[in-house]
Amino acid sequence: MSVMTPPGIKTPGDYIEDVMSIVKAKNAAEPEFHQAVQEVFDSLRLVLQKHPEYRSSKILERVTEPERVIMFRVPWFDDQGNVQINRGFRIEMNSAIGPYKGGLRFHPSVNLGILKFLAFEQVFKNSLTTLPMGGGKGGSDFDPKGKSDNEVMRFCQSFMTELQRHIGPDTDVPAGDIGVGGREIGFLFGQYKRLRNEFTGVLTGKGLSWGGSLIRPEATGYGCVYFAEEMLKSRKDSFAGKLCLVSGSGNVSQYTVEKLLDLGAKPLTFSDSDGVVYDPDGIDREKLAWVMELKNVRRGRIREYGEKFKKAIFMPTDIKLEHNPLWNIKADCAFPSATQNEIRAKDATNLINNGCKLVAEGANMPCTLEATKTFLEAKVLYGPAKAANAGGVATSGLEMAQNSARLSWTREEVDDRLHKIMIAIHKNCFETAEKYGTPGNLVNGANIGGFLKVANAMLDQGLV
Ligand code: NAP
Repeated sequence: MSVMTPPGIKTPGDYIEDVMSIVKAKNAAEPEFHQAVQEVFDSLRLVLQKHPEYRSSKILERVTEPERVIMFRVPWFDDQGNVQINRGFRIEMNSAIGPYKGGLRFHPSVNLGILKFLAFEQVFKNSLTTLPMGGGKGGSDFDPKGKSDNEVMRFCQSFMTELQRHIGPDTDVPAGDIGVGGREIGFLFGQYKRLRNEFTGVLTGKGLSWGGSLIRPEATGYGCVYFAEEMLKSRKDSFAGKLCLVSGSGNVSQYTVEKLLDLGAKPLTFSDSDGVVYDPDGIDREKLAWVMELKNVRRGRIREYGEKFKKAIFMPTDIKLEHNPLWNIKADCAFPSATQNEIRAKDATNLINNGCKLVAEGANMPCTLEATKTFLEAKVLYGPAKAANAGGVATSGLEMAQNSARLSWTREEVDDRLHKIMIAIHKNCFETAEKYGTPGNLVNGANIGGFLKVANAMLDQGLV
């Protein structure tokens, strides 16, 4: 490991600091992007020491600069005939190891910095899946909540009318994310097909009768629990009887709860932006089915759970609080599965004080840098998003493979491949962390494991 820094090349510490200041100066007012870059850079010191060629080839400057950023106007008519204007984005971050791949997010909080952080994370996540996929992300500040199906359709058609120029099955393959589920993917795919006159695997998360893959809806939640199971196994433990906190109540949360039930754990919570519901009796299959109907069909709010199941307690969101009451409930494991920075330093301390032994990130960057540090110092089993929630994009990769072969695999076959991929990602992170002198630190393992493959591909392909 003790490779000397060649003359004329900065030390890893100086190099990281210099590039970090450039990133902050060039991307001002994008704090989430700074946070995601900082977290990766913090893991790379030893890698840069061992590989001076990454420094001389300016790999860090290059991976933090998107290959292409597309921003566009999305005009549409609402049901009253009023003109509405939203902003659309696609960040094509890195295509060193495959076509750009990453979800679309429709949420009023969406902005350039948030999508750049997500696209940056996606590059390394996709690299970890073992499949040939580059990284991208996109979306809009459009809020599907409270919109009619026709309004969502008109918005999606307008969004795709511009986006279709930039994507394609061998170029850039979007999927869903917050606010983009089966309904939205359907409308987006329909418009792409109409404009381009092609039926191709240009989007993943498609319906089963038109090119979708079995297990894709379940994949991120199932994958996160498979990954967490490997983390527990590394300490000779299992999910049997474990009390689990899950945040969010969307796609990732629902299938996390389902897989936790399969493995004998007891999930206790769901949430949405209005508040948290805590069910001390545990969320069983019947209650989960009720939540799926509430969220996916009736598109209702999680507070209704508290009205339906009498022992459950609903705690409304209080923005004045510096902590989230969800993370102050006694439990063994935590699965943040809603959004970025939902676990802050105080939440991390509360979780640890209540005996939490495992955190697996279903959402992207749900922990602040301080919260992550707190978990790592307390030796909590900590599964970072890049690794723990990579099952979704991995199964999107499997959907692309099925589309290319014009075949559909069985549920068992896709689930088995997903499970094996999650085991392989855990093994890679675990062994890489050990190899680089930080055993058990899966943040370092994921960042280094994901980075090496991309950096080497970039070196092989010259200055592009
Ligand atoms: P989803 O189905 O739209 O559900 C999102 C859930 O999070 C909803 O319950 C939503 O509540 C809640 N939420 C969103 N923003 C929030 C905020 N600012 N404050 C409080 N609650 C908020 O989305 P999803 O696909 O499950 O995605 C959840 C997370 O997983 C995201 O971080 C996403 O990037 C990540 N992820 C998803 C996939 C995938 O395959 N879907 C893959 C990898 C990672 P409201 O309804 O009240 O907004």
